[in-house]
Amino acid sequence: MTRARMPRPHEVAAARRDPRLLRALRERRQDEAWRTRGTCQSVDPETFFPAPNEPADVAVALCRSCDVQGSCLAWALEVGDCHGVWGGTTPRERRAMLVAWRSEVQPDPDAAGEPGPPVRDRLLTLVPLS
Ligand code: SF4
Repeated sequence: MTRARMPRPHEVAAARRDPRLLRALRERRQDEAWRTRGTCQSVDPETFFPAPNEPADVAVALCRSCDVQGSCLAWALEVGDCHGVWGGTTPRERRAMLVAWRSEVQPDPDAAGEPGPPVRDRLLTLVPLS
């Protein structure tokens, strides 16, 4: 098992200026129904969970055209999810964003226990639970 390295200070500094993060901060909690409006609703969920050595370009491009990109990324950062593509970001990008996010916002007590977004729900249906 490989462990993800901690983001470097210059990566966190860049994440703080990233327009995707700034949009997530603006749109955080603005649209509680974002899960039902994602572009990924009509796309194979595996697209959003590429293997570590596979490109995430297709998923990231789909997210760019998604109306709820900011709310989606805010959700992923609030729950600390570093798997898959959320809100147009890769897990590596989000690790740096997560450091910036946690210094900017307080944890959302209502986020705990929320069901995952549709793409995750559909992925779980593909992976049988033992
Ligand atoms: S992962 Fe998020 S931003 Fe990307 S298409 Fe789905 S809902 Fe939209």
